[in-house]
Amino acid sequence: MIRRIGYADKELVKTKFPSEEILVRPKAIIECYQEIPCNPCETSCPFQAITIGEDINHTPVIDYSLCTGCGMCVYSCPGLAIMVAQIKDKRAYFKIPYELLPIPQIGETWHAINRKGEILCDCRIEQVMQSKKTDRTVVITASVPQEYLYDFVTVRKRP
Ligand code: SF4
Ligand code: SF4
Repeated sequence: MIRRIGYADKELVKTKFPSEEILVRPKAIIECYQEIPCNPCETSCPFQAITIGEDINHTPVIDYSLCTGCGMCVYSCPGLAIMVAQIKDKRAYFKIPYELLPIPQIGETWHAINRKGEILCDCRIEQVMQSKKTDRTVVITASVPQEYLYDFVTVRKRP
C-alpha cells in the first residue's frame, strides 16, 4: 500500500499498533515496512523486546509484554521509524524523534501532522528530551485527542 500511495494508510498503520487496552502503558510503535539491512532498534533495546533475527534484512518484531516504553529505540533508529504511544485521559501521547529547528519547548502548542503531511489539530508539547544519550536527536512528547491515535505522526510549528 505504501508503494502505491507514497505513505502508509490507516489500515497498514493499525497493524503496527497493539490494542488500545495495552496502550494504557507506553509502548513502542515500529513503522518499519521495508526489508533493509538494519538493526539498531534490536541492539538498543535494553529489554530485548525487539527481534530482527539472524537475517538482518528482516523487519523488526516487537514483544509488547517486554516493552516498557523507555524510548531508547526511538532515538536509535536511523530511519526515524519508531515512536512510543500511550493513551491517557482520552488523549494520545507520542514520544517522537525530532530533528528540525526550532526545537519545540514544553508547554507550547504546535500543529499535529498526519502521514500525508496535513494538519490534524493542535497538539501540546508535553516534554522535550535532549542529551548526550540521544546524540543529536531531540525526543519530544506531544499529545493530541485520542481520536487521532492512528493519524498523528509528527509536529510542525504554528505560524
Ligand atoms: S521503548 Fe524501550 S523497551 Fe520498548 S522496544 Fe523501545 S527500547 Fe525496547
Ligand atoms: S532501526 Fe529503524 S529502520 Fe532500522 S530496522 Fe529498526 S525500525 Fe527499521
